[in-house]
Amino acid sequence: MVAMKNSKKILQSLLNYLGEIGIQFSWVSDDGMKDKAVTSFSLDLKTSPCVLCGTFSDQTREIISIAHEAGHILTYQEMNREESCTYLCSTFAAHGIGLNKISPAGQESMLTVEIKASVKGLDILSEIVLTNEELNLAKKSMSQWYSTYEKLLPGNPNTIFFKGLSLEGMKKIKDAASEYYQYLQIVQEGKQAQYAYRRLVEWGYIKQK
Ligand SMILES: [Zn+2]
Repeated sequence: MVAMKNSKKILQSLLNYLGEIGIQFSWVSDDGMKDKAVTSFSLDLKTSPCVLCGTFSDQTREIISIAHEAGHILTYQEMNREESCTYLCSTFAAHGIGLNKISPAGQESMLTVEIKASVKGLDILSEIVLTNEELNLAKKSMSQWYSTYEKLLPGNPNTIFFKGLSLEGMKKIKDAASEYYQYLQIVQEGKQAQYAYRRLVEWGYIKQK
């Protein structure tokens, strides 16, 4: 991966910014947390979620991971009680039995949250000073992580739809359109199909029937 210049400075401004917007952050020096950042959520709604960051060998990856996890906290804060319960239960279930075995609604909840976390993570990174090149690098890494989720759900049309949504979130309209088009070849009914269809019309890829 290409490295960000001044990554030390960027990391410092990122942590300062998270402090300013009230996101809890903590370093952990656990062996299992090497090159990893995670968000710890508590089922007790009074305890705020916290980004836990292990020791990274690559500072660019560290910056992007922290931003994505902070995006998870911002996404979580916007959920109502029911949404946050569905999300947390799905996450616990997916860790236990695998993402491909949990309910479609649970999968949908998790994939939607992953996209939102990345979009919000990118918003955070654009608040601290990054070059366009560095922001693109972050976008690229985040889409690659999303692909690893997709691989867990082969042949599921939902995955295609959410890939489109993710690409749209990253403002990659042409690629998003191609995913929505593929989705509509398999699914023609429902909220997601209507959404995909509307987007393709809006972007001028298809003419309204
Ligand atoms: Zn995530």
